[in-house]
Amino acid sequence: MKSLPYFCRGEVIRGFGRGSKELGIPTANFPDSVVDNLPADISTGIYYGWACVGNGDVYKMVMSIGWNPYYKNTKKSMETHVIHKFKEDFYGEILSVVLLGYIRSERSYPSLEDLIAAINSDIEEAKAQLELPEHSKLKDDNFFTSTTTSSPVSPSSTVSTSQSIINGH
Ligand code: ADP
Ligand code: MG
Repeated sequence: MKSLPYFCRGEVIRGFGRGSKELGIPTANFPDSVVDNLPADISTGIYYGWACVGNGDVYKMVMSIGWNPYYKNTKKSMETHVIHKFKEDFYGEILSVVLLGYIRSERSYPSLEDLIAAINSDIEEAKAQLELPEHSKLKDDNFFTSTTTSSPVSPSSTVSTSQSIINGH
């Protein structure tokens, strides 16, 4: 995928209550504005990379890019599980991510246990991949320190929308 590494950020919005949190694997959802900007060669499936909430620390993440059942599978969704235990939810905050690599395609599982096992193995794969020097160096990318305030839109800046920041760091 020639678009990797892929940088983007956007507000964390409410998902569709699929109970990810109850499974111990909460996934922070991006709004359509971010999803619609995905390059065509970023196919659906599970990715690993780095993520940062607001101006916080940069953590490992896994992201699912998939077809959104809420929109009758006509629209993609991007859901990020940050590999870190947060004290509280961060709806409304700006989530910044870089996608670095592809783990697997989307598929359905015969049971919830199988799904959870697959996600946990994705998390292990992500952790290992992100230790590689070529991937770990992205943790310190300027992209993660260039978030100004809590808003991605800085009126005084020439970079005026979150979209234009994408891959323009
Ligand atoms: P929703 O359907 O609203 O996306 P989830 O059950 O998937 O609900 O939970 C996602 C929310 O949980 C995120 O929007 C975020 O506010 C919070 N959250 C807490 N810890 C994490 C984490 N480690 N990774 C992602 N989201 C987290
Ligand atoms: Mg979610």
